[in-house]
Amino acid sequence: MSDRIAVIGAGQMGNGIVHVSAVAGHDVVMIDISQGALDKAKATIEKNLDRQVKKGALDEAAKADAMARIATSTSLDAVADAQFVIEAATENVDLKHKLFGEIDRLAPEGAILATNTSSISITEIAGRVKRPEAVIGMHFMNPVPVMQLVEVIRGLATSQETMDRTLALAKGVGKTPVEVNDYPGFVANRILLPMINEAVYCVMEGVGTPEAIDQVMKLGMNHPMGPLTLADFIGLDTCLAILEVMHKGLGDPKYRPCPLLRKYVAQGWLGRKAGRGFYSY
Ligand code: NAD
Repeated sequence: MSDRIAVIGAGQMGNGIVHVSAVAGHDVVMIDISQGALDKAKATIEKNLDRQVKKGALDEAAKADAMARIATSTSLDAVADAQFVIEAATENVDLKHKLFGEIDRLAPEGAILATNTSSISITEIAGRVKRPEAVIGMHFMNPVPVMQLVEVIRGLATSQETMDRTLALAKGVGKTPVEVNDYPGFVANRILLPMINEAVYCVMEGVGTPEAIDQVMKLGMNHPMGPLTLADFIGLDTCLAILEVMHKGLGDPKYRPCPLLRKYVAQGWLGRKAGRGFYSY
């Protein structure tokens, strides 16, 4: 029997994780504090499933089955019958610590408590719950239905059973898991975010326009997407939060967020999801 999954946070990442889980045959409950976010996420999932049907990757019956497996809730109580909890709420340390306290209290014994955090310490989250062996990082990439990688992060106390069940779940939803250890930014963002930050410095210092910088990296380095387009896609608030965590956690000034990135976030120009970032949408 497939694990019953609870996904907390119905934003860009949450809806994608729910999508691939439901298609793979899991019953999923999607939890968010905002009913609006839940409604929007369900509509997005339906639209993305339709796209898969049009491409012939899925048939109408499979789409209907997947939609029927998705329940929604605005209460965390809904984690009570989940064997697998995947937290994908806003990237904020205090919020994640508070959420994991509640998840620990509400989730059944034997449940895996995974977080999709981009950068926050898995060990620090685990250190605050009564079952640190069950806590693990499960870092999906955006957009989840399309991207192959899941970075699976082992905290200091993560058990082998938790690791094995997480690797199995990732493979079961059609992804390729890669196991890494818990240090700020893990591997993906440790390497990606300094590049994005440097691209923002290039904008701030007038080295090139966003278009020119992205063209250089696309045509010169064969990147499918320039770093500023990618930053807009990730969300500039999320980029800033990840850099802050790496700067604080590793203590090296090379991770200091570019002042122009802070300015964009302060103004609410958060990228694609806000309609404006380095580009307008
Ligand atoms: P988002 O802003 O699109 O969505 C966050 C959602 O969390 C919102 O719908 C919000 O209402 C909800 N939320 C906030 N507080 C909550 C609470 N207490 N309980 C339930 N829901 C709550 O953010 P996102 O881009 O989907 O990112 C979510 C997580 O995934 C973050 O940890 C982020 O670092 C990580 N992540 C993001 C990306 C990316 O490219 N955006 C990639 C990998 C991982």
